[in-house]
Amino acid sequence: MNNTHSAISLHDKPSSDFLQKVQASQQLLQQVSTQFQTIKQASSLGAEDLVVSHLIDQLDLNIPMFVLDTGALHEQTYALIERLQASSKQLIEVYKPIHQSVIQFVRDKGQRSIFKSMDHRKQCCDIRKMEPLQRALKDQQAWITGLRREQSTNRAQVSQIQVDIQNRREMSKVNPLVDWTWGDVWHYIGIYQIDYNPLHDQFYPSIGCAPCTRAISLGEDFRAGRWWWEEATAKECGLHLNTSSLPFVAKKELA
Ligand code: SF4
Repeated sequence: MNNTHSAISLHDKPSSDFLQKVQASQQLLQQVSTQFQTIKQASSLGAEDLVVSHLIDQLDLNIPMFVLDTGALHEQTYALIERLQASSKQLIEVYKPIHQSVIQFVRDKGQRSIFKSMDHRKQCCDIRKMEPLQRALKDQQAWITGLRREQSTNRAQVSQIQVDIQNRREMSKVNPLVDWTWGDVWHYIGIYQIDYNPLHDQFYPSIGCAPCTRAISLGEDFRAGRWWWEEATAKECGLHLNTSSLPFVAKKELA
């Protein structure tokens, strides 16, 4: 699958403390697997999330993964879901939007209205991502993501464990790769030859829904390909907007 022009050959540049980062991520995942009675991994099936899943698999942790199938993913992403369902030790849950809500939105607004109105784009994200996310996280004490500080200025303050508000309820968000670089991620993928989305080989560092993701050019920001027609500061779908930048313990102490 991977060739000399692959994302691995382009990006495999580990930090000098790569092994320590891997160990710290493993320790955090082991810790939270016993600290929380109910915890799931949210996976967009991007490079980072595949690393997190591999770490969980390797540690034999009983942490299920969920995927949000918005109904608008790339063919390559759907194919990857099928391959993972066949090969992963992790239980993989797939959450889809409420069909009637999608139909209603498309009928009332038209799917292409997301390109003309940020309000409509956010409504689409609410229907296709946020509502299924709330169902996926119902009754969970914590969730695990592949967020990294390097990904964007919005994510520069991410901590290993943070307070997160979902559905007006406080829970914990665990981010085992916070200080990993893009080079670390691809070094890990290369070492273990992890199956990944071939769109990464076509200059898609961040992969979301097909209509809202494009390849990036040399020098562009990591998330420039997501909602490329909008202001850079708005490039979030809402999944990661309810998180305090305060570490979990600090927020608890302040409360
Ligand atoms: S990323 Fe685009 S298609 Fe996907 S839910 Fe958001 S607006 Fe809709």
